[in-house]
Amino acid sequence: MKQAYINMHIPFSKHNAFIVEDGVFTHVSNKATILNQEVDEIIDLKDYTVFPGFHDSHMHLVGLGMMQSIFDASNHQSIDSLIEKAKAFDMNPLVGRGFHESLIPDNRMLNKADLDKISTEKPVIIYRVCGHMVVANSKAIEAAQKQNGTITYSKDSYDLKEGLFKEEAMQYVLSIIPIPDESTIKSYILKAQKTLLSHGVTSVGSDDFHVTKAPYETVLNVLKTMSETDELKLNVYEQVNLPNLDDFKDFLSKGYALKNYGLYKHGPLKLLADGSLGARSAYMKTPYADDPSTQGISIFDKEKLIKHFEKASEYDMDFAIHGIGDGTIEAIMDAKEHILSLDAKPRRDSIIHAQLADLEQIKRMKTLNLGAQTQPIFIASDVPIIEKRLGKERAQETYLFNTMIFEGIKTTISTDAPIESTNPFENLYVAVTRKSFKHPHLDPFIKEEGIRLSKAIKAYTETPAYFTYQEDSLGKIKKGYQADFIVAKGFNPKDKASLLKTEVLKTYKQGALVYER
Ligand SMILES: [Zn+2]
Repeated sequence: MKQAYINMHIPFSKHNAFIVEDGVFTHVSNKATILNQEVDEIIDLKDYTVFPGFHDSHMHLVGLGMMQSIFDASNHQSIDSLIEKAKAFDMNPLVGRGFHESLIPDNRMLNKADLDKISTEKPVIIYRVCGHMVVANSKAIEAAQKQNGTITYSKDSYDLKEGLFKEEAMQYVLSIIPIPDESTIKSYILKAQKTLLSHGVTSVGSDDFHVTKAPYETVLNVLKTMSETDELKLNVYEQVNLPNLDDFKDFLSKGYALKNYGLYKHGPLKLLADGSLGARSAYMKTPYADDPSTQGISIFDKEKLIKHFEKASEYDMDFAIHGIGDGTIEAIMDAKEHILSLDAKPRRDSIIHAQLADLEQIKRMKTLNLGAQTQPIFIASDVPIIEKRLGKERAQETYLFNTMIFEGIKTTISTDAPIESTNPFENLYVAVTRKSFKHPHLDPFIKEEGIRLSKAIKAYTETPAYFTYQEDSLGKIKKGYQADFIVAKGFNPKDKASLLKTEVLKTYKQGALVYER
């Protein structure tokens, strides 16, 4: 089947028509040239805008689907209205997600007493928006104590009186939630996939092995089967998150490294090396301005990273490490330097997030050939807390995404969904304007760091394909490339605000229509 698509605008391209055959662009040109070719069908796109399918280079498929299945604790007018809604939500244990204190008038974190108002009969656990902190009610803590005994995590990672648990200590209470089976995992992935396709996202870098308590092979088998049976409609590049070294060795010994199952492929080693700015668990070189008693939590320091990196390196796996605090970013760079001293093979390593890298660190990232998988959309949520957490001066050297691109660092734009929505247009809006659509009265955050729109689109399509070693077949509307594209309405390249009104009408994956509004 040979289909010609005509009458469209492709932003920042001189082309306006193409032919798709067997899932691939075979001609990309102008209307007259395309209509000269013999084709089976001509499709008129009615002057709408066509983008290459977006590639969300760091998110969590299983996490997104799971979050869509549990109580939504985001966007409530007050803690009281959250409590009322939660009471009516039928789930036991009740798990919620997305709470963000800056969106609540009282601006305070939820606590155990609030959750006890939801129920004293069943366990209630609610995630903060960052996913690095949960709050639990008395019943949940009681169940955790019964199951796990006395809590032994480091004292600054939990507060039993307030019902708060950060980072690894979250496991203490999360362990009471039943382990999902294969069919549940699959239902999560299908849910997430549907949302992504409706947003025009056709490829993802996804971290799924450490999201639920299901063994990593359960998740792996679901994705592998979905790829083999054609139920998977996304390119999925798995970011292999196995923090336990024995689990990682098990993965490697079973021959899973760099496995390619079609659309589902195994990618880099992923580790969570620190926490988040919101939860004050991002590991900083100096203490937090609004809580001098802590400088965050280092989950993987240089020595621990090296142990994992050496193993990954033996199997030619790159790494993509979650690093937010400048202390952790330093540790990742030190560990990379060590690996380079052992083995000079070309690699495509990256730091995921990297938003608190200062100017000096950005220069060192470039020297070490470390990419950055960033999330400009975090600014939309974080802008009220950045200066509070870091102080005025330090805050000026944060979220320097334009500088990263300018310095020649391979930089992608992604959402870390379910942390943020997978809508690429909201993300692009923040990337180019540095304005928060969640707090529209606030000034742009370090306006000079706004990325040119054409570059921002590249960072959302072409650059991610570099990290998956598919830069010759994915991420462009170009002859020989996978025919992943979307048809959108409401976009005006001369008006940045139009990004917030841009809507996806159709999504095509390898030439097949997979979403229609
Ligand atoms: Zn993540």
